[in-house]
Amino acid sequence: MKHIWRKLKSLFGAANAASDAAMIEALFATDIAGIAETDFRTGKFTRVNGRMCEMLWRSEKELLSLGPPDVQHPEDVARIMPDFIKSMSEKGRWESELRHVLPDGEIVWARINAMVIERDPSGAPLRGLGVLLDITEARRADGKVREQAEVLKVAQTIGRVGAIRRDIVAGLIHADASVREILALPEGDAPIRTEDWLAGILEEDRGRVAHAMRLAIENGDPGISLDYRTLCPRTGGLRYIELRARYHFGPDGKAVSSLGVAIDVTERRAAEQRLAHAAHHDSLTGLPNRSLFRVRLEEALARARRGVGFALLCLDLDRFKEVNDTLGHPIGDRLLVAAAARLRKVLRETDTLARLGGDEFAVIQTCLLEPQEAAALARRLIETLSAPFDIDGQEIVVGVSIGIALAPHDSGETESLLSAADMALYRAKSDGRGLWRYFEPAMNQRMQARRDLELDLRRGISESEFEIHYQPILDVDTRRVKTFEALLRWRHPTRGLLTPDLFIPLAEEIGLIVPLGDWVLRRACDDAARWPESIGLAVNFSPAQFQSRHLVARIAAALRESGLAAHRLEIEITENVLMRDKEATLAALRALKELGVRIAMDDFGSGSSSLSYLQVFPFDKVKIDRSFTCELDRPGNSNAIMKAVASLCGGLEMAVVAEGVETEGQFAALQREGCREAQGFLFSRPVASSELPALLRRLGERRALTVAAE
Ligand code: C2E
Ligand code: MG
Ligand code: MG
Repeated sequence: MKHIWRKLKSLFGAANAASDAAMIEALFATDIAGIAETDFRTGKFTRVNGRMCEMLWRSEKELLSLGPPDVQHPEDVARIMPDFIKSMSEKGRWESELRHVLPDGEIVWARINAMVIERDPSGAPLRGLGVLLDITEARRADGKVREQAEVLKVAQTIGRVGAIRRDIVAGLIHADASVREILALPEGDAPIRTEDWLAGILEEDRGRVAHAMRLAIENGDPGISLDYRTLCPRTGGLRYIELRARYHFGPDGKAVSSLGVAIDVTERRAAEQRLAHAAHHDSLTGLPNRSLFRVRLEEALARARRGVGFALLCLDLDRFKEVNDTLGHPIGDRLLVAAAARLRKVLRETDTLARLGGDEFAVIQTCLLEPQEAAALARRLIETLSAPFDIDGQEIVVGVSIGIALAPHDSGETESLLSAADMALYRAKSDGRGLWRYFEPAMNQRMQARRDLELDLRRGISESEFEIHYQPILDVDTRRVKTFEALLRWRHPTRGLLTPDLFIPLAEEIGLIVPLGDWVLRRACDDAARWPESIGLAVNFSPAQFQSRHLVARIAAALRESGLAAHRLEIEITENVLMRDKEATLAALRALKELGVRIAMDDFGSGSSSLSYLQVFPFDKVKIDRSFTCELDRPGNSNAIMKAVASLCGGLEMAVVAEGVETEGQFAALQREGCREAQGFLFSRPVASSELPALLRRLGERRALTVAAE
């Protein structure tokens, strides 16, 4: 473009000097620029060349019917006109850049050089010659550059970015105004000495930055990226700076200067820190959460591999669920916060306390010299949490159970260490509450066995491997069968016939007892509906079943669907059932009694507070635990307990049954002591439903009994 321009200038020079018709002809013949002759009296073009027509997208004929103002942008016409008239009259020449409008509205920028080629005798211009160069492309690029510079400036301000140039040889830094603001450097244009810039960096970071810069230059790195902190001169707060630069190298390959940007990333850092904190901390207590705890645990394990042992304590609040359920979640939340604060007080700075979720906490006790130190800490933690809490004027008592695993002794791996502490916690909980337990390898085997049993149990249920055996309960005076008690059995494909003690505790713990118990009830009711009217059915119920929904409705449905009269069904519960949610349980028991179902207290005397339970509900029957029966008729035994219970129950109008009668001697003693019913191996072991007719015959009964086909 520049090249063409020079060429034209030289042409012009010639034309101007000579105003020679031949020169003008030559000019019209070129196609490097648009050439147009204008008559100032008519204001119209009188001659145009081909390039002019191309530039303005008009035919020669059309152009000759128009004048310059018809093709120029109206705004530009207004702008240039005064100067054009003045310059042409006075100097005979005029030049400018202006927009032309194409028939379709598109804009073409042109650089115009105009000169007067004829004047009237008074000297007023009559005709002029214009040379037009299309500069649209250049203009557009220019506009882009200007726009980019604008954007850059805005971006710099918003992004808090500034350009920085360093003269490595002279040890000087040249910085634009925004960098000076960001880096808190003196204002103005004067270069800054590298040392002065370094002096502004926070002391903790300065050595590292200087070292990194030296190293990058020594290594001949193409560029460098630094981050450091300075103090904001206005607020005195920390400012986080990121600096990135590229080096320029001299002929000897050494870096002589660098060009880069400095970015103030303080806000971003703060946001990052906020996010990181939220991602790694529990919002309620502010303690590290499970994910951060795992990181800390891994770090501690890395140190443990180098010989620095530690203890992992897993904590679980006792009775927290009760607090949450009875006093509401807001109180529960505040209790957790208060508990976390107490725990923190007991710990050292170097220990880590985390909330793993719910009412579970965990501690990494570092620098452990003796395993006993973990137990000592556990004791202190238990003590601090056993003191009552005052939340909103309410006194709340919780407690805590703790499982301890030692690293690297118990495990050197995150997962297995956590599960070791968990197993120890599980043991602490099941041994009672407010206790701590160390992990022992045997727990691992038990846990594994438990997991295996759980899977097996689920499979057994889906494969219908369960069956019901029945054991008769006889009237002591007549020796006739009064009731059959349904006792669950698992016909296991490899382990044979399993009794309930091998699987019911687990089924209760994992909630499977509810569907399993429902199945027992329905199946037993169906069986009993075929027995003689005079024989009743006893079914055992677990505490978990009383916690499940719609228990009464489900029992009513089982009776309805089997056709068994309600008075023939007896439900056996142990005192454990009454220990949980007593009010709801009593309500359910009362509703069952309304239905006509009878309620028996099972295993009486085996628990701790048996007598008091006899007062809370009018049981129809009390079954005296086997442990008393087996004492009967022993030499030197007065049978006083059996006698006392029998007379007490008689007074309360509750029938008394002795469980586990194995000998005729025991049976005779029962009769003497006033016990009305008896159950035990003396009469029969529990048998499959199909064996019941034979059992009745063996017991000398004349009553016939039909059973369902298997
Ligand atoms: P339980 O309700 O006290 O049942 C009596 C248990 O004593 C039965 O054990 C029975 O076989 C056993 N037994 C009966 N007579 C004698 C005897 O003379 N000597 C000895 N040594 N034992 C005798 P089993 O069948 O192993 O059941 C154990 C417990 O499992 C039951 O105690 C009951 O609490 C529970 N259970 C059984 N079936 C079910 C069920 O379907 N649901 C629920 N929730 N629990 C059940
Ligand atoms: Mg029972
Ligand atoms: Mg019992």
